[in-house]
Amino acid sequence: MSDYQYDLFIIGAGSGGVRAARIAGSLDARVAIAEDRYLGGTCVNVGCVPKKLFVYASHFSEDFANASSFGWNPGKADFSWKKLIANKNTEISQLNGVYKRLLDSAGVETIIGRATISDEHTIEINDEKITTERILVATGGWPNIPEIEGKEHIISSNEAFFLEELPEKIIIVGGGYIAVEFAGIFNGLGVETTLVYRGPLFLRGFDRDLREKLAVEMENKGITLKFETNIRQIEKTTEGLVTTLDNGEQLITGQVMYATGRNPNTSNLGLEKVGVKLDSKQAIIVNENYQTNIPSIYAIGDVTNRVNLTPVALAEGMALARHLYNKQEIAVDYTNIPTCVFSQPNLGTVGLTEEEAREQYSDIDIYKSSFRPMKLSLSDIDEKVFMKLIVDKQTDRVIGAHMLGPDAGEIIQGIGIAIKAGATKKEFDSTIGIHPTTAEEFVTMREPVS
Ligand code: FAD
Ligand code: NDP
Repeated sequence: MSDYQYDLFIIGAGSGGVRAARIAGSLDARVAIAEDRYLGGTCVNVGCVPKKLFVYASHFSEDFANASSFGWNPGKADFSWKKLIANKNTEISQLNGVYKRLLDSAGVETIIGRATISDEHTIEINDEKITTERILVATGGWPNIPEIEGKEHIISSNEAFFLEELPEKIIIVGGGYIAVEFAGIFNGLGVETTLVYRGPLFLRGFDRDLREKLAVEMENKGITLKFETNIRQIEKTTEGLVTTLDNGEQLITGQVMYATGRNPNTSNLGLEKVGVKLDSKQAIIVNENYQTNIPSIYAIGDVTNRVNLTPVALAEGMALARHLYNKQEIAVDYTNIPTCVFSQPNLGTVGLTEEEAREQYSDIDIYKSSFRPMKLSLSDIDEKVFMKLIVDKQTDRVIGAHMLGPDAGEIIQGIGIAIKAGATKKEFDSTIGIHPTTAEEFVTMREPVS
């Protein structure tokens, strides 16, 4: 045991920090974790969890419409935003308690307060200096809002989770996960929604077919998409927020939400004082063992700005703790990470996009299928499922699977295991489907399209 007060001091009790703390604690390390805002971090408080609850809430409007096609008469739907927010807040404070108990039961000391690094082995928190053999920075990220005139009127996803009132109209800026997910949420809740994105088509980096088809589905559901433009200026008037676009067009709206990426939380942490190296986006640079250039200081999760997803932060936290306190090799595999944009419909994906596969492989087969989901077959809701498999012809291995449709996240999670296991197209084909399901289409696509 070292002479320091702790073996490991973790800054940030989010997805990565809590997982590292629990594993290190259970391996008998003396661990403390500092949190200055909310236990559970972004995912639990202003990320994955409340977002998914909002997605469920917003989809009911379409579910009610579909229900009538099955003979139900649900009557006039009456939605209370205040009730949704209150119930969501109750659920999240329960989760905060669960996180505290999980840390307690692993023998981790939780310290509420803002921690900074004084030197390679010293943390300052609540006017106290604490010594530690190792420091783990797991401070996550924070919304990036560019400098524009009228910036003070802009909200980010952080505020969207706590709005007092649901606006009649909203403009969402950005073309990433958050912008696309929140456009679906607000639209489903009856808010007139416009999404403004600077590029030609949102969700850059995802398979092009899915991006194009999602744009069509979102427009069919009533969302206005304005691509290749940006907001120049926002002005508050008695009529609302007058928003001027690059092309001079003016839109009046109740809220403007920016979802234009997130910056790593590295400022005023003391990192520069001890000489921890950051990259050009202010993310902490780490080696394959999550160690910074200062040997006693480590970093995981969004603060390293690599794959900014909760399951990745969890995997990194677990791997690091096992490496430090159980001498295990770090074995986080960053290939074939499945992911889902909780748009409406969901966009789930694992492996290579067609564009990536064409660059990396000389000969590929593409399988595509598009059909009307059975659940909507009695209704006039115009939504199609789209599925796509990408196969390396030389080995017959499936190297990419993509789906746009209800529950794509749930379905792609399972397909992800097959792809990780190196399944071939022949093995997909010899798997018997579950009928009637949407997912069975993944094992019945027989003819390549190109
Ligand atoms: P965080 O969870 O951000 O935790 C960092 C913690 O450190 C915070 O609690 C912060 O308060 C604390 N902290 C910072 N500085 C200090 C300090 N000096 N002292 C003490 N404490 C400090 N990912 C998914 O996989 N699926 C999703 O559906 C999904 N949805 C998302 C939706 C939204 C709106 C957002 C914003 C993110 C979403 N993410 C999602 C991303 C996911 O939330 C993050 O990847 C994940 O939370 C990163 O975990 P982390 O441990 O690195 O950081
Ligand atoms: P993303 O990085 O996904 O997207 C940012 C978007 O904002 C891009 O479309 C980008 O455009 C655009 N943008 C950036 N700067 C500007 C600017 N100055 N003006 C106009 N547009 C700009 O970030 P998000 O904020 O959507 O989400 C942050 C991260 O959180 C995600 O990357 C993801 O890792 C995680 N997340 C995961 C979710 C999930 O798993 N379901 C859900 C939500 C978040 P361009 O493409 O042209 O660069």
